[in-house]
Amino acid sequence: MEQTLVILKPSAIARGLVGEILTRIERKGFIITGMKMMQLDEQILREHYAHLVDRPFFPGIVKSMTATPVIVMALKGVEAVEVFRKMTGVTNGRKAEPGTLRGDFCMSGQANIVHASDSVENAQIELRRFFKPGEILDYTPENLEFLYADDER
Ligand code: ADP
Repeated sequence: MEQTLVILKPSAIARGLVGEILTRIERKGFIITGMKMMQLDEQILREHYAHLVDRPFFPGIVKSMTATPVIVMALKGVEAVEVFRKMTGVTNGRKAEPGTLRGDFCMSGQANIVHASDSVENAQIELRRFFKPGEILDYTPENLEFLYADDER
């Protein structure tokens, strides 16, 4: 099964949205295989958002992503990367569809509460970026047969 990297951003932590987001993640059927709080700094953000480092709003990203600690999570599931991206919604919370995390819980293009890996390849890179070896505890929950049909797993 795939794993994807999720970050609950300072805009989720500061606004008290952690419980709401975790509830949706659990109800959807994702298997949480890693979860920890950490304080990001400019160095890791330059790596993580390398595609945006030259954009004028990059200092704003650093400010908003370092404002409080974040929660990083590893989520497992069939097609987990695509499913969680869909659940996240588009970048700007004002444009994100109702029903998505960003569509339901934020109004900003920057303070948009969650990060979600955008491809299977990037998910693997990002999981290694934020978790040390041994911090992702890959396991099979007992209710797996109620989450997926036999031929889906
Ligand atoms: P996504 O997080 O939806 O994959 P990007 O990889 O394009 O989107 O951008 C990474 C993050 O950078 C966004 O989630 C958002 O916090 C911030 N960001 C992107 N575009 C802008 C922008 N035009 N102005 C301010 N912040 C932005």
